[in-house]
Amino acid sequence: MMIPELIIATRNVHKAQEIAAILSGWRIRTLADFSDLPEVEETGRSFAENAALKAQQISARVNGLTLADDSGLCVDVLSGAPGVLSARYAGEHGDDAANNRKLLSELGALSAHAPFRAHFACAMCLAENGQTLANFLGALPGRITLSPRGTNGFGYDPLFVPDGFSCTLAELPEERKNAISHRAMALKQLSEWLSCHAWRRF
Ligand code: IMP
Repeated sequence: MMIPELIIATRNVHKAQEIAAILSGWRIRTLADFSDLPEVEETGRSFAENAALKAQQISARVNGLTLADDSGLCVDVLSGAPGVLSARYAGEHGDDAANNRKLLSELGALSAHAPFRAHFACAMCLAENGQTLANFLGALPGRITLSPRGTNGFGYDPLFVPDGFSCTLAELPEERKNAISHRAMALKQLSEWLSCHAWRRF
């Protein structure tokens, strides 16, 4: 039987690993498997806009179903920041340690407002030949702790305590995070969409 293939429009190894672990049965390729693809500028004002930019621009250059994930952390007391700037909150794209330090320092100055309600958001866009096929959204509510804990996961995971848990996402085993995460929620919708639509292809 032919194994279906999905191209993930990301260079973020952690995201790609989580997506591959959740979407078993698919051959996953990422931007690292292609040599001449442009950097997509994330100029959207929402996760959904940025996911669409990435999925459309990359799918126009590659041959196959392309999925983009735009995600981040939104903290209520910061009016939703870091939001779409999550990856580059402290300036340099993807510097998780600096982003976490910046968030801790901002929230440290607002300790009277604790507990700090927050959520992770994930917007996914599935596209082919430059056109959007479908959009999916996931969210994981919780709070920010000013005492980072755990070494699993990536990004803001050591600072985020999901509702219903007393540990951070970075203290949860990979499979546990992948069962409850914002990304898992969006991928569940993708799987349902694929089972309704994409079966014709394979
Ligand atoms: P994007 O690549 O522009 O979508 O930005 C993603 C950024 O959001 C990452 O670099 C992290 O800072 C943050 N982020 C998204 N998902 C997660 C997650 O599951 N755990 C921790 N941080 C995340």
